[in-house]
Amino acid sequence: MANLRESPYIWVTWLAKIMAGDITCQWQSWFRSQNKEIEKQPDDFDLVGWKMDHTKMLTELKEKLIKENYSPIIEQSVKYKIPNLDITVAAKPDCIIEKKDVVIIYDCKTGKERSSDQVQVMIYMYLLSKGKFSGKQSKGVVIYKDKKIEIPNLPENFEDNFNFFVNVLSSPKPPTKNPGADCKFCSITKNDCSERVD
Ligand code: SF4
Repeated sequence: MANLRESPYIWVTWLAKIMAGDITCQWQSWFRSQNKEIEKQPDDFDLVGWKMDHTKMLTELKEKLIKENYSPIIEQSVKYKIPNLDITVAAKPDCIIEKKDVVIIYDCKTGKERSSDQVQVMIYMYLLSKGKFSGKQSKGVVIYKDKKIEIPNLPENFEDNFNFFVNVLSSPKPPTKNPGADCKFCSITKNDCSERVD
């Protein structure tokens, strides 16, 4: 079973997945934002292999940027409090550099491309523009093993979409569940979600 959080705590990947529509069961992101999971469904994800691949990509990026005379900030925690509300959006961008009046955020992805990868970087861009780097133009780059995608600016209506989905995840009223294909990749156990399809 899970423990109720004192206030909603939204991790960036949970938010990015529902903003991009990569998962259709919004309840899983809502549940994690409202509760600390005590137990997780076992899966066959190779965490150690992923960590090694990701660390290698990030190390190569860092070395390249240092050679180009930048001072990359690596995996710095960002916690953004929604103004006037007791809601935290938390993130840890892989790498940030400052280039005159521009801040560039990089995220390294070891797997196949998903829409939420770009949305995740857009959220980083948005959060940083509200905090330490306010007043600077922000750009994003998603790096895959064989390509990179540049995000020169935030799409129109990004802030409206961000606020809409933060509202979904922080509301006391849960969104509807959508048991099915998403369950296979969901860590929430049957103890917390009796509709789980195994
Ligand atoms: S187990 Fe399935 S229905 Fe339950 S939260 Fe996860 S994805 Fe949704």
